[in-house]
Amino acid sequence: MNVDYIIVGLGLAGIAFAEKLSENGKTFVVFENNSQTSSLVAGGMYNPIILKRFTPAWNGHDQLQYAMPKYEKLEQKLRVNFDVKLETKKVFNSIKDQNNWFTAIDKPNMSVYMRSKIENGEIDGVFCNHGFGTLKGTGRLKTEELINAYKDYLRKEERLIEKDFIYDDLNISATISYNNLIAGNVVFCEGFGLKKNPFFNYLPLNGTKGETLTIHAPELNIDFVLKSSVFVMPLGDHNYKVGATFNWTDKTSLSTEEGKKELVEKLNKVISVPYKILKQSAGIRPTVKDRRPLVGKHPKHDNLAILNGLGTRGVMIAPTIANSLFNYLEKGIPLEKEISIARFS
Ligand SMILES: Cc1cc2nc3c(=O)[nH]c(=O)nc-3n(C[C@H](O)[C@H](O)[C@H](O)COP(=O)(O)OP(=O)(O)OC[C@H]3O[C@@H](n4cnc5c(N)ncnc54)[C@H](O)[C@@H]3O)c2cc1C
Repeated sequence: MNVDYIIVGLGLAGIAFAEKLSENGKTFVVFENNSQTSSLVAGGMYNPIILKRFTPAWNGHDQLQYAMPKYEKLEQKLRVNFDVKLETKKVFNSIKDQNNWFTAIDKPNMSVYMRSKIENGEIDGVFCNHGFGTLKGTGRLKTEELINAYKDYLRKEERLIEKDFIYDDLNISATISYNNLIAGNVVFCEGFGLKKNPFFNYLPLNGTKGETLTIHAPELNIDFVLKSSVFVMPLGDHNYKVGATFNWTDKTSLSTEEGKKELVEKLNKVISVPYKILKQSAGIRPTVKDRRPLVGKHPKHDNLAILNGLGTRGVMIAPTIANSLFNYLEKGIPLEKEISIARFS
């Protein structure tokens, strides 16, 4: 079988690149071995403001403007709704927090998202002494639903190979051959699985484990993302996702007692109503030392490329950098220096 591209990995990066290929009439197959879970367990939130410091996320506004119409198109194509528009409410810990909110609104692109009025009222079931500020234009992508729907679509098209991609089986010359496949290029979208890739594992992907809980809180009734020391995100039927932890040493995707304890301790300071834990999940975010994506071609093999390093904001970043990689590979348009892996050559 001849294809233009082999994609390795079907998380948010793999889907974004596959969609770019589809839009442009390119043929491809995708390998997926379920070894990583980051996109599956992600909160899926999109929000271009860093709420710890009330600063804009790197290129967040532009990324969001580019990404949302792409996801909307994908919803229509797959006939599945996975974008949930939700406001985000930041719980203030002090008067200083409130003042910082007002200062931040005056910065470029911030007032588009930050409501100028601070709310001092109470939210039932939530500890809140200094009020809260509201972000608009934010929301949540149901990433698990997106991935499952995309897998079904690829299965029907016979373009999903649900196996390990074996690096040793790759023959590289002017074209690529891999068992019975002949391809123009391979694009690796393996998330933290990159560590096992002999062609690109020289790149400084450190990986940050994150754990979340799904809870049922019958007396909590919020229809927005609550952001405090943890986020509390409504899933419907009084179920909420709570997260997330940040662990830089454990590189497994296993849930831990330590992760649960940390989330429960924090959650007990955020909500005042009883709840039951339904589920715990974990995954490794593909984070990079300098907090920028890893995009580009292999220094020696022109037909091997990488799309990785989505970090903590894969939902917003993936479509933009998939577009940059496509334009680079197909049209020779240079990559932005900040995302190019040439910075580590
Ligand atoms: C707890 C948690 C919460 C998060 N919350 C958010 C959030 O709210 N908003 C947000 O934007 N981001 C969030 N993130 C980050 C987000 O999940 C990542 O940025 C993004 O999902 C990374 O996507 P990816 O496709 O690069 O990697 P992955 O999702 O890891 O996908 C890589 C895929 O490649 C496959 N693979 C790897 N090696 C091979 C191989 N050899 N052969 C075949 N297949 C292979 C893996 O099985 C996997 O499916 C969160 C992450 C975690 C862990």
